[in-house]
Amino acid sequence: METRILGRTRGRFDEAAAFLKAGEVVAFHTETVYGLGANAFDDEAVLKVFALKGRPADNPLIVHVHGDYDIAPLIDGEPPYAAALRAAFLPGPLTMVYPSTGKVSKYVSCGLNTLAIRVPSSPVAQAFLRAADLPVAAPSANLSKHVSPVTAQHVYDDFHGRIPLILDGGACSGGIESTVLDCTGEIPQILREGLVTREMIASVAGDCGIYRRKEGERPKSPGMAYKHYSPRCETAFCRSAEEANAIYDREKARGGAPCILCESGAIAALGGRAALDLGGTGEEMAQRLYALLRRAETAATLLIGIEPRVRGGVMAGVMNRMLRAFGGDHET
Ligand code: AMP
Ligand code: MG
Repeated sequence: METRILGRTRGRFDEAAAFLKAGEVVAFHTETVYGLGANAFDDEAVLKVFALKGRPADNPLIVHVHGDYDIAPLIDGEPPYAAALRAAFLPGPLTMVYPSTGKVSKYVSCGLNTLAIRVPSSPVAQAFLRAADLPVAAPSANLSKHVSPVTAQHVYDDFHGRIPLILDGGACSGGIESTVLDCTGEIPQILREGLVTREMIASVAGDCGIYRRKEGERPKSPGMAYKHYSPRCETAFCRSAEEANAIYDREKARGGAPCILCESGAIAALGGRAALDLGGTGEEMAQRLYALLRRAETAATLLIGIEPRVRGGVMAGVMNRMLRAFGGDHET
């Protein structure tokens, strides 16, 4: 199968929608990362997404809809704070988990009695979802465990020859996946941190918890239990430039090509060693992280991450992704 990357081509949204309705899987730009979408009502198409990615069968998918899509038939009621959160943050990088009515394919939620729904703000995603006028089940468009894609080329690198088309919307402005928020309880609870922060949610809903899995309990957001976001090179993670420099010099001495990934403020302490600059703010780091991880895996034998000092806001989400990318903390 030829995989086409469609930029500003006339009719591309209708073409993508037609593929979707025919049971095919298509990739599309969103403001967080690129998604790999299937008609959420179509069992076989949803299973195709799992097969294409090599995704574990117990890791549920988020359903994407356009801004005017009526989600009422898909969800079994909602708490009072949910409407306020929708008004404040949608369309945008916030996924809301509701009690499900079971109308979409049972493979979307992997046996959970909830359904995760998101309304992306990307104009490309919106136009595609409007043309389809269906709920589109879409995880990130990367092979399972690999780094999430933030350009159409990243999607192509993982899936060329296996999907018919990629709706190109350029580089993703957000850069890390959506915040996943459990809206089934009395107060909302964050299952996965992202660009919409706990403070932002609490300022609208009055309160906001962060889910921590209890011993022996089935995780509420199964995806968080897996190894994730891993570049295909050796990695090391440290807390200081001194430590990173020592590891770097050892790798260089044995003939390797090391590289250090760190916030802008740490670069001066690296003494000219090869570095990838994450930026100075949480937003910059979110936007650059995955693209830099993908660049590192093609160029470096060893990628050495330095823990950023910047804290607060979206840094909770950035740190979560960094720790996973560098091989630690597979459980939340
Ligand atoms: P991805 O789209 O690849 O970023 O993965 C989707 C994330 O949403 C995973 O971490 C899933 O565990 C989570 N998710 C999807 N559906 C649900 C749901 N019904 N309840 C809780 N988490 C969900
Ligand atoms: Mg993913």
